Amino acid sequence: MRTYSPGLLRRVFEWKGQLAQGNRAATKDFGGIEIAPFKNNSPAAVSISADFEMAWGWRSRPGPECASKAANERRNVPSLLRALEEYRIPITWATVGHLFLESCTRGNCGLAHADMPRPPRNERWDGDWYRHDPCANVNEAPAWYAPDLIATILSSSVGHELASHSFSHIDFSVTTSTPELVRMEISACIKAMDPFGIRPRSLVFCHNRMGYQYSDLLYEMGIIVVRHRDSRSRLAYPERTASGLYKLYESMNLRLATYYNYVDKAKIFIDEAIRRGDAYHMWFHPSDEPNVFEEAFIPILDHIDSQRGKGLVWVSTMADLAAYCEAREKTTISAIRSQSGMTLTLESSLDTSKFGNPYLTLLIPLDRPVTKIVYDQDNDSQDSTAARRTHPVENKRLILNVPCKTKRVQLFFS
Ligand SMILES: [Zn+2]
Ligand SMILES: [Zn+2]
Repeated sequence: MRTYSPGLLRRVFEWKGQLAQGNRAATKDFGGIEIAPFKNNSPAAVSISADFEMAWGWRSRPGPECASKAANERRNVPSLLRALEEYRIPITWATVGHLFLESCTRGNCGLAHADMPRPPRNERWDGDWYRHDPCANVNEAPAWYAPDLIATILSSSVGHELASHSFSHIDFSVTTSTPELVRMEISACIKAMDPFGIRPRSLVFCHNRMGYQYSDLLYEMGIIVVRHRDSRSRLAYPERTASGLYKLYESMNLRLATYYNYVDKAKIFIDEAIRRGDAYHMWFHPSDEPNVFEEAFIPILDHIDSQRGKGLVWVSTMADLAAYCEAREKTTISAIRSQSGMTLTLESSLDTSKFGNPYLTLLIPLDRPVTKIVYDQDNDSQDSTAARRTHPVENKRLILNVPCKTKRVQLFFS
């Protein structure tokens, strides 16, 4: 059923306050040379996260429902990967840490994962926190382990991010968690992900219960960004917290709406993000019924792809988006101009152990063509092949992508 036109729908969201202005990007201007808010100077960023949890996220529900959610997820993931490859859209898979395991065994005491702390309170079921864990392996209990699906996600050509959704789907609320529990949950994720050669950099709080009391601890353990549900804003520039952790504002979760076309809603929010320079973020459950993907997800991917084709959005994972924002925060630029060219000196205090060496997009005002660009980097920095491409000067401005740890860029005029 569709009763709202897109024009009317926009006014409804406005009226409900869903398009309220959130955090905005600060201008980064160094004597006329700017660092663009988003990579490629795209007006907006788009990111998507999947809460990848199999049976772990549904174990408080009756057994058949929990099993059906996990079975849906097993069936949907390969199709989702094909669609994301077709549109070349990388997403962030917020994965329950236990899914990285091939198998697990029951301890002598009769408990699963006896070495893991239990939440101080659990209102979702009686008995032990791990009582549903089959202590088997992926072949015998494919709802509780998914190293095969994870390997498939990692082998995709689009570069998906594997992120954390805690180890055992804990609730990060004050009454149901402790610093020790959170530390052990994240440590267990790090350990389980290590054989795949990856570390968690993004975290999605389970049940969207945000545990900001653990921001310092999460950041110390390598988490640089979390998905944030805000009571006011659904579109915002990623917000840096005092601990260094970024909040990425959730714009919407995928579903089918009764009184309007959900794809219209996504288009309205993405258009608004483009208009005001915000990050749009959609999340979903891969365990949903296939028609949700056919009727809403694929058309939204198609729209994102077309907006990217017009240069209007930068499609990024959660961690890459946070890394760009932090590199922008931590880099300064000075320039010396001469008759024959310009020399830019970059100084960056970015913690590369957490954020890597992301590209920054510089906007350099110029009134004549550049014939040559020479980069001078640290020896240990990443390959700068992409930065060596000379971009044309458009509207008296050179748009240049440079790894933020570049020390010096020399521009030569004709
Ligand atoms: Zn287990
Ligand atoms: Zn979850």
